[in-house]
Amino acid sequence: MKGVIFEGKHKISIKDDLIKPEINPDEVLIKVKKVGICGTGVGSYESGGPYIPGNIVGHEFSGEIIEIGEKVKKLKIGNRITVNPQIPCHECYYCIHDQENKCKLQNYALGTTEHGAMRDYINVKAERVHILPDNVSYENGAIVEPLSIAINAVQESDFKIGDKAAIIGAGPIGLMVIQVLRVSGAQKIFVLEPVESKQKKALDLGADRVFNPNAWNKIVRLADKIGPDHVYDCVGLSSTVSTSLSLIKKGGCITVIGMHDSTYELKNAGLLTINSITMKGVYGYKQETFRTAISLLEQGKVSGELIITNRIKIEEVPQMFEKLANPPHDELKVMVDFE
Ligand SMILES: [Zn+2]
Ligand SMILES: [Zn+2]
Repeated sequence: MKGVIFEGKHKISIKDDLIKPEINPDEVLIKVKKVGICGTGVGSYESGGPYIPGNIVGHEFSGEIIEIGEKVKKLKIGNRITVNPQIPCHECYYCIHDQENKCKLQNYALGTTEHGAMRDYINVKAERVHILPDNVSYENGAIVEPLSIAINAVQESDFKIGDKAAIIGAGPIGLMVIQVLRVSGAQKIFVLEPVESKQKKALDLGADRVFNPNAWNKIVRLADKIGPDHVYDCVGLSSTVSTSLSLIKKGGCITVIGMHDSTYELKNAGLLTINSITMKGVYGYKQETFRTAISLLEQGKVSGELIITNRIKIEEVPQMFEKLANPPHDELKVMVDFE
């Protein structure tokens, strides 16, 4: 069978002699249908990690169950499914307290420490599998994972109906956050994004106004001249965190979702204290978040398909990673077809 292997910094290869996996009693075998390329994967391609060289990439995927382990109860052959790729320990303090996104094995996941889904067949533990309703396509099924990141971010930010929000970065995650905020009753949604095609997409998906990043002051003016209640930083650079601090109203909450710079250099860091700003990081999702994401897609309240800009074959994956690693580009979510 074919698969896409992360070989290390700037190296992705395609193999066609991979062995079709066998399943354990608590696992199912899946014929993979669609796999999204994730920003974390592109980050690993640029820096060499956290993906482990030699592993198959891919953690945003959908497929069909074709074989079932003897201990598996609630799933059937033929189920259309997506998979929560995180592999929690179920034993640590956080897992016991229903916070598996903070598990001590936080980084332990399909496509990162374990072989991922960018291949014809994958075996996964049944408890990680989520069934897709009939009206949720395989493409939207492969979007459930990034959508869950956006839902978790909005939930953990304590956003309230009627709040005003600014989103920095209209990539796939930023565009999901816009849609989740719309569903959650945002009064105004402002976006900072430099790429024109992504600005347009942000407006299409529910943003009220979109500006170039250096025009952040316009958002302050439009938000009662004091700034929005929330900023969602979907980029995570020193410059975007700094803009967040300048932009947000006193007492507001900055939620940092993106991870780029490992060190923040902030000339305006004092604003954090002077303006009583809350700044919080958010990571991952829980099983319940997956169920919420699937429900939003089922009801048509959020679209994953609208953020897909490219549908490619496995052979095109290496050159696509190279393109995605060299911004600015117009690509949003790139979907790899395994059907
Ligand atoms: Zn991802
Ligand atoms: Zn744990």
